[in-house]
Amino acid sequence: MDPALAIRLRGVVKRYGSITAVDGLDLDVPEGTCVGLLGPNGAGKSTTMRLLTAQAIADEGELEVLGFRLPGESKPARAQCGVVPQLDNLDVTLTVAQNLRVFTHLYRVGRAERRGAIQRALELANLVDRRDTRVDKLSGGMRRRLLIARALVHRPRLVLLDEPTVGLDPQVRQELWALIDALRAEGTTILMSTHYIEEAERLADTVLIMAKGSAVAAGPPAELIAEHAGREAVEVYGRPERLAEVEAAAGAASLRTRRTGTSISVLGVEGADGAAPQGERRPTNLEDVFVLLTGQEIA
Ligand code: ATP
Repeated sequence: MDPALAIRLRGVVKRYGSITAVDGLDLDVPEGTCVGLLGPNGAGKSTTMRLLTAQAIADEGELEVLGFRLPGESKPARAQCGVVPQLDNLDVTLTVAQNLRVFTHLYRVGRAERRGAIQRALELANLVDRRDTRVDKLSGGMRRRLLIARALVHRPRLVLLDEPTVGLDPQVRQELWALIDALRAEGTTILMSTHYIEEAERLADTVLIMAKGSAVAAGPPAELIAEHAGREAVEVYGRPERLAEVEAAAGAASLRTRRTGTSISVLGVEGADGAAPQGERRPTNLEDVFVLLTGQEIA
C-alpha cells in the first residue's frame, strides 16, 4: 500500500439483494487531507462509510484503511480511527467528561494519559466549561460537538464523519465547521460524507462526487468547478417558457445549463458574451458541478 494514503478503495462493490449500493468504487484519501464524499440520496455514501468501519462487508474489491486490509484487519484499523456517527448515541445520564472517559477506556488510552486526553478533547470541542454538565442538559450544538470530541480522545490518525451537520441549524453547522477546520489544521486525516455541498466546498481539500454507487468526479473543488462549470454563470429568472427558450439557446451555443428550481443558470459564460443571455452574473460553484454530474431529476 502507498504509505501516503490513509484510505484506498479499488473496485469496491456492495450489494443488498438486487440493489447495488456501491458499484465499483475507487477512493483515495491521502494522509493529512480532508476528503468530502458527496452525492444525492441513495448514492451510496452511508454504505461506503459502513464498509470503512467494517459494519458492512464488501462483495468485491480491495479496501485498505491506514495500511490495514479490510475486513480481515478491521480491528487494528478501527483502533486508530475516530468514528462520528450520524445519529447521536451519547449516554444522556452521564456528564460530558464521563462520556469522554468511557471512550478513553474503549480506545485503551493509558491510565496516565486519560486526564490529558479528556482535557484536550474538551478544549478542541470548546466544552471545557461544560465538563460536569449532564448530556441531557446540553444544547443540540454542544451534543454534536461532544459526539465529535468523543471520537478524538485517542488521537486517531483518521476521522470518519458521517453527515456531521445533517438536520442542524446554520449556527450549529458553523460551530461544527470551525471544529472540523481546527482538526484539519492539526493535520488529522478526515473523510466526511455530506449532502451539504457548501460544507464540502468549504472544508474539503478534495471531493468525490458519487452517483448510483460509483464516482462520477473527484478532485479539489476549485478544479472541478473550473473543469465542468467554468468561471461565471448567468442566472435567468422568468416564466417556464422563457426558461426553456434560454435553455435551448444556450444549448445551441454549446453552453451548459442547469435548473435551480426558480431560474436557469447558464454556465461558463466568460468569454461567450454574444451567446450569453441577459441576467445576473455570479461565480460558478460546486453545486453547479453536482447538479450537472448527478442529474437534475430527483431519484
Ligand atoms: P442518503 O444520503 O439518503 O443517506 P446514501 O448516499 O448514504 O444516501 P446509502 O444509504 O448508502 O446512500 O444507500 C445506497 C443504496 O443502497 C440505496 O438504494 C439504499 O436503499 C440501499 N441500501 C443501503 N443499505 C441497505 C440495506 N441495509 N439493505 C438494503 N438496501 C440498502
